[in-house]
Amino acid sequence: MSEPSSNFVRQIVSDDLREGRCTTVVTRFPPEPNGYLHIGHAKAICLGFGIAAEFGGRCHLRMDDTNPEKEDVSYVRAIQEDIRWLGFDWGEHLHHASDWFERLFDWAKLLIRTGKAYVDEQTEEQIRTNRGTVETPGVPSPWRNRPASESLDLFDAMNRGDFPDGAMVLRAKIDMGHPNMKMRDPLMYRIRNVPHHHAGDRWRVYPFYDWAHGQSDALEGITHSLCTLEFDNNRELYDWFLDQLPPDELPSRPHQYEFARLNLAYTVMSKRLLHALVREGHVDGWDDPRMPTIAGYRRRGYTPASIRDFVERVGVSKAANTVDPALLDACLREDLDATAPRVMVVLDPLPVTLDGAESRVLDAPSWPHDAPREGSRPVPFGPEVLIERADFEVEPPPGFKRLAPGRVVRLRHAGLVRYVSHELGPDGAVARVRCEVVGDEQKPSATLHWVCAADAVDVRVNVYDRLFLDPAPGQERDFRDDLNPASLRVVTAKAEPSVLAAALGSHLQFERVGFFYVEPERSTSGRPVFNRVVPLKDARARSAETPVEAPEEVERTKTVRTLTEVGRGLVARGLSEDQAQVLQDDASLRAWFDQATATGAEPSAVAGYVVTELPRLAREHGGLGALRFGGGELGALAELVGSGRITSTIAKQVLAILATEGGSPAAIVEERGLAPIDDRDALAALVAEVLADAPDKVAAWRGGRTGLHGFFVGQVMQRTGGRADAVVVRELVTAALTP
Ligand code: ATP
Ligand code: MG
Repeated sequence: MSEPSSNFVRQIVSDDLREGRCTTVVTRFPPEPNGYLHIGHAKAICLGFGIAAEFGGRCHLRMDDTNPEKEDVSYVRAIQEDIRWLGFDWGEHLHHASDWFERLFDWAKLLIRTGKAYVDEQTEEQIRTNRGTVETPGVPSPWRNRPASESLDLFDAMNRGDFPDGAMVLRAKIDMGHPNMKMRDPLMYRIRNVPHHHAGDRWRVYPFYDWAHGQSDALEGITHSLCTLEFDNNRELYDWFLDQLPPDELPSRPHQYEFARLNLAYTVMSKRLLHALVREGHVDGWDDPRMPTIAGYRRRGYTPASIRDFVERVGVSKAANTVDPALLDACLREDLDATAPRVMVVLDPLPVTLDGAESRVLDAPSWPHDAPREGSRPVPFGPEVLIERADFEVEPPPGFKRLAPGRVVRLRHAGLVRYVSHELGPDGAVARVRCEVVGDEQKPSATLHWVCAADAVDVRVNVYDRLFLDPAPGQERDFRDDLNPASLRVVTAKAEPSVLAAALGSHLQFERVGFFYVEPERSTSGRPVFNRVVPLKDARARSAETPVEAPEEVERTKTVRTLTEVGRGLVARGLSEDQAQVLQDDASLRAWFDQATATGAEPSAVAGYVVTELPRLAREHGGLGALRFGGGELGALAELVGSGRITSTIAKQVLAILATEGGSPAAIVEERGLAPIDDRDALAALVAEVLADAPDKVAAWRGGRTGLHGFFVGQVMQRTGGRADAVVVRELVTAALTP
């Protein structure tokens, strides 16, 4: 692990303590519970909690829950779980911005009474245009100088629910010509006639970030309020609000400091895009092992230590930077290299017959001799072994050091063998190699991993790759077009029998291949399922006696499956091989599948739900048995989607309702008004509305920011609650943008 290096935040805190500007450092991490935490948040978490711990202070966890429409308690729970997993603890200091709503409301009235705030009845659009530009001053609202008593009455009425959303807002009265646009009479409250997930239904007005944030900091006694650089311009307003309040009502006078966001190459991190990935089914939920969420990294098999080390190495600065995810992988390898036991697993097997070999059981060390751990496991050996297909070449290219005609290689732990001959299969590919056991006096050209054919066990391995192919997804085009279609390959690999004993949640190093994690969520039915966390790219991660090139060929091997008769039958009914594999191996899922297809639903459509959605629901609800519906309902749902009655996005919502409440899919769609919006005219009107609301973005699109296409589509989808057909919307957006 790397040593903490100094950074400007440490410097400020240490100066403040030394010079007595504060006695205890108190920081906070303020997530908005409108999605899962991502790796960027990990940076803010490590910084906030890390600085507090380092200087003997404390860090609060505050739910920045000022926007009830987008927030949900399920996110509140997930956020806490993720922070704990990262290794941090807020003790008694779990707070909610909404805990302060009463105080904020009273203070807002104080500002109205002292002539520092007013109720504005301009429309959102008018407020935007009248704010002016960086070059031109803003235009004062006609309501700016209304009597305080009138604003007070209106503000109370706003909160009683007397007005619809958007009818009026409360604004601070500062300076409409201020060079800092944030100071041009910023908004303090908006009307949202909805209850709040934490504060109940007391409120019909909700504070904006700027009004809530600094005041919450002060009320909690925060000393150092750390945030990302985009809040740079908000600092002046942060201070202005605090200056307007009676100092004796403020437990502390916090200061805001900004640091650069963490950006990762090949990754999207905006919650809006992460939401889209989940909603549109590009991934299997927020904790999909390919997601850049903390929950995703956890399920993939990254360790908390590797993430903390990564954040420390990235450092804290004011300069925006995009970091290569290879750095995180290096941190993981470093964390696991000394501890993860070695095993041998072949992902893409090629049979090798060994003349002169006898069946026996080897005692193979599980760690290299210089590792801090010791131990061994029995590894069966015999006259037929399997090696990686990529480890043999009939005509070796330059630099290829592994098995080839004429060569001697070492079979790890078993000794040396020399090539004798090989056979080609009917397809012209190598079908089998023959070798002979030779004595130790030869010099091997490489050491290969292998498994004994007679004793090998089949294991499911999820080989994960980047979710996006482009280093800057969405920059040149819609971010969906940058998705990596091969981000997950499911492989049935041949493994030495000891892997069956691997504990859930443990890590193994598959020799010469990579670090793997036994994923508890998917290792149901007692058989481990392995996620490849990272390949063994780094030459230093391999021991000196395995002089092979980086096993890139291994990574590129095609998917290998062992379909049984059941599996092949499923493929014949239209299922993909991946789906067939899962169903053949899992009898309980197969029972659901059989029930669902008995309703007459299309098998391939049903399989999609059974293979991806059911295991996820089962995980969330505590097992398949806890779900309030059965195969029959699933079949009915698949038919609704198949016949175009509902979109697949809506189907997921229906599934969520089915899981907890049961019922019939058709009735749920009917009662909750979930039928799709397929009226092209209505959708076109909505597209026009979205474009009209974002003239700056339309102009930017015309100026070449074509990635904004996805933004417009997302807005329309959002306004229809996901009920519009995304394909139609994309088409309509394109048509509306092109003159
Ligand atoms: P997004 O813009 O992705 O929706 P957000 O900033 O709105 O994220 P919040 O939940 O409000 O998400 O963030 C909580 C805290 O985490 C904030 O203080 C924010 O500055 C910080 N944070 C968010 N993204 C990053 C990042 N990429 N790097 C470092 N800190 C971040
Ligand atoms: Mg935010």
